[in-house]
Amino acid sequence: LNGFAVDLGGTKLAAVSFARGKVQNALVRKTKSADGPAVLVRELEQISKEIGYKEGAPIGVAVAGKLDDQGLWSSVNHSILKDLDQLPLAKSLSNVLGPGVVALNDTQAAAIGEYRYGAGQNVSSLAYLTVSTGISAGFVLNGAPLHSPNGMLGHVGAMVSRNGVRQCGCGRMGTYESRASGRAIEAMAQQLGHGPVTCHQVFAAATAGEHWAQVLFEDACSSIAELCANLVAVLGVERVVLGGGVGLAEGFLSGVKRHLSKEPMQFQPQIVPAGLGKHSAMYGALSAAITKGA
Ligand code: ADP
Repeated sequence: LNGFAVDLGGTKLAAVSFARGKVQNALVRKTKSADGPAVLVRELEQISKEIGYKEGAPIGVAVAGKLDDQGLWSSVNHSILKDLDQLPLAKSLSNVLGPGVVALNDTQAAAIGEYRYGAGQNVSSLAYLTVSTGISAGFVLNGAPLHSPNGMLGHVGAMVSRNGVRQCGCGRMGTYESRASGRAIEAMAQQLGHGPVTCHQVFAAATAGEHWAQVLFEDACSSIAELCANLVAVLGVERVVLGGGVGLAEGFLSGVKRHLSKEPMQFQPQIVPAGLGKHSAMYGALSAAITKGA
């Protein structure tokens, strides 16, 4: 792999340059999600130039939210990426960065990255599941990355959880994203009178033995375990590769495994941490840019 990749999530915007399959340089900053969509596009262009992008090289741009076959970009959870509705992302980026740009959904990119270069190399059907600011998944089935023309595929955080009770920013009630995402954990901690706190601080409080935080941690792990079993039921994935700031937090994966062991055997996929760490989406995005989206 030689080229560039950019990854825009609900919390962070990152860019990487690759040479001979290795990460050479990386930049990370906060996503200016409150400043509106035009600013997001400008930030994507800016960070691409700062990482050294020169027209002609391949660059994969992975973004949270839905991206349809016309290259129009919209949010699914409107409280994470605000006012984002049918923005012509592919067109705006190629106007500025040239024809080497391929834009795709961040978790679809991550699934491709893990399948080709990371923790999915020896299975034919996997889900990459990110538990981060939001929750979503990307899939490779029988070796083929899944994609839907309207860009909705993989927004599994918008599925309804057994014990979900909160309103989600996507408009549905009781979703996984309103129960187990970093944003949800922070909001629930605040509602309990312990905020404002970061999800990292909530997990540290849980480790320190604070009961309220342990309840939030266990509830998030149990929701994600339930979601993993649902992914087996709907797509028959053999392995779930877990990623994202929350998914890769210390103790989270073993918590998910503990809850998953209560599900019937045939609904228990293997669960492994992202082999490419925080860079899964970047590897997949650049790989897709080189193969022009395939
Ligand atoms: P993005 O959503 O932009 O892709 P991340 O994958 O880093 O970014 O996810 C950000 C979310 O993960 C935030 O809610 C943040 O509080 C949470 N987070 C990041 N690191 C940790 C950690 N070590 N422990 C718990 N939560 C974390």
